[in-house]
Amino acid sequence: MDKRSFLKFTALASGSLLLTNSAQASSGGHGAPNVQELQALAQKMIADVIAQNDYYVKKQGEDFFEKMKEGQQPRATVIGCSDSRFQGDSLDAKSENDLFFIRNIGNQFSSNMGSVEYGVRHLNTPLLMIIGHTRCGAVKAAMNDYSNLESNIINELDSILPAIRKTEMVAGNNELNWLNAVISNVHQQVFYAQKEFAHEVESGKLTIIGAVYDLANDIKHGHGRLKVVNLNGKPV
Ligand SMILES: [Zn+2]
Repeated sequence: MDKRSFLKFTALASGSLLLTNSAQASSGGHGAPNVQELQALAQKMIADVIAQNDYYVKKQGEDFFEKMKEGQQPRATVIGCSDSRFQGDSLDAKSENDLFFIRNIGNQFSSNMGSVEYGVRHLNTPLLMIIGHTRCGAVKAAMNDYSNLESNIINELDSILPAIRKTEMVAGNNELNWLNAVISNVHQQVFYAQKEFAHEVESGKLTIIGAVYDLANDIKHGHGRLKVVNLNGKPV
């Protein structure tokens, strides 16, 4: 058994999936801390990034960048999970200068309030979107004992915990519980945002939506579909 498999095995055997292990289990992340392998991956990634950037620059052309000189004018502030399976182009084919994107584990509001506030109150985006996703490792971690994780991670998971406590758990149906916890977390984060921006929402300057990006077709509306679950603090 290699180290990665061993980590998964021990986590499952203990009945406690930690954030790192659950993320690896669900997304196939590079879990084994083999330094040579990691360095080779990093080198390859650097070369890929340089090449992809070159392709992007040529594809867009100079006019595209010239138009951005004067500043940004996004239409939406977006809080999304950092999970690499969720990307902005699933929402917006031309997201440049259109999405003011803030990402963290578990699409939390409270750990990036300054950035969110800048999008809403300084860039005046008329829309704030909070987007969770199915099979979220952060939500999974918050459903279990995460007290032995790093303190910075604990702080972020703590803002998800109230959502977990509100989720009605069905015995023996972990997949359903996970999905319901993801949805509950979106409601929870919208609740925090609604409190902060109550004045903007009441005056009509701001609309807040909460949505789930269903990468695994767990909601049964199709793989990759976005399901809106909350509008201005009310479930839809
Ligand atoms: Zn996630």
